[in-house]
Amino acid sequence: MTSDANSPDELAAEIRPGVFRPDWSLVTTEAARQALAGRVPGSAGLLERWSKPLHPHADLVWQTLLRTFVREGRPPRLAEIAAETDLSPESVTVILRELEKRDLIGLEPGTDTIRFAYPWSTQRTGHRVSFGAHNLWALCAIDALATAPMYRTDVSVHSACAACACKVYVATALHGRALRTMSPPEAVVWYDFSYTGSAAASCCPSITFFCSDEHLRAWLKSQPRQPEGVRLSVAEALEVGGAIFGPVLAEATDFRQVAESLA
Ligand SMILES: [Zn+2]
Repeated sequence: MTSDANSPDELAAEIRPGVFRPDWSLVTTEAARQALAGRVPGSAGLLERWSKPLHPHADLVWQTLLRTFVREGRPPRLAEIAAETDLSPESVTVILRELEKRDLIGLEPGTDTIRFAYPWSTQRTGHRVSFGAHNLWALCAIDALATAPMYRTDVSVHSACAACACKVYVATALHGRALRTMSPPEAVVWYDFSYTGSAAASCCPSITFFCSDEHLRAWLKSQPRQPEGVRLSVAEALEVGGAIFGPVLAEATDFRQVAESLA
C-alpha cells in the first residue's frame, strides 16, 4: 500500500453533499484502480472540472436531461428542460453552457441543442445500448457499460472489435454490478488516457472493445502514436464505469437527517 499524494481517496470530487465521484468503494480490482488513478491525474483538468460542486440549479438540469435522455430516447430540448425544472429558458441556456464547460455535455456549436451528455450521444458511435424501450448510443465502451450502474438497471451492449469489427455483446446483471453474458468470452476493453479538454473529442473514440487480447495488441501496434492506457477485462471495465457514473444520479445525503438520527 503506497501513501503518495495520489492516494485514491483524495482523487474524488464531492459532486453533491455526500456523493463522491469517482466512487472508489465500487473498485475491487487492481486494474480498475489503475485505470481510475491513471485517468484522474493523467487527464489534466478533469477532476478540476468536477471538483467544484454544481450550483443546485445546474445539478437539477444535469440530472433532468440525463433522465429525459433515457425516457424519450433523445436529449430534451431547451423548452422541455425549462418546463421540467421550473427554470426560465434564459437560465437553462446559461446552465447548459456551464455544463459544457465542465465537460458534462456537448452542444451543437452556437446552439442550445444537446449533442451528447455523457454517457449518451446522439451520434452513431458504434456502442449501442438497449435500455428499456430504446436503443441508444453511448460515447465509449466504458460509458456503455456504465449506464447499468448509473440508472440502477440492466442493459445489453452491442458493439464491435475495433480491430476486426466482429460483434461484441455484453449483458449486465444485478443492476450493473455483474455480467450476465458476454460474447465472445475473451472480449476485453482498452481504457485510453489521452484526455484533452473534452473526453468525447479525445479519449472516447479509443475506449473500445476488442474481441481478444491478441486483437488489442495488434491494434495497439498499428497506432501511429503508442497509446497510453490500461487493458481491462469487461468485468473490470464495468467496475470503472460504475465508479465514474454510479454517483451521477445518486441522491445527496441529507446530513440534517443523519444528525437527527444520531441524536
Ligand atoms: Zn477482433
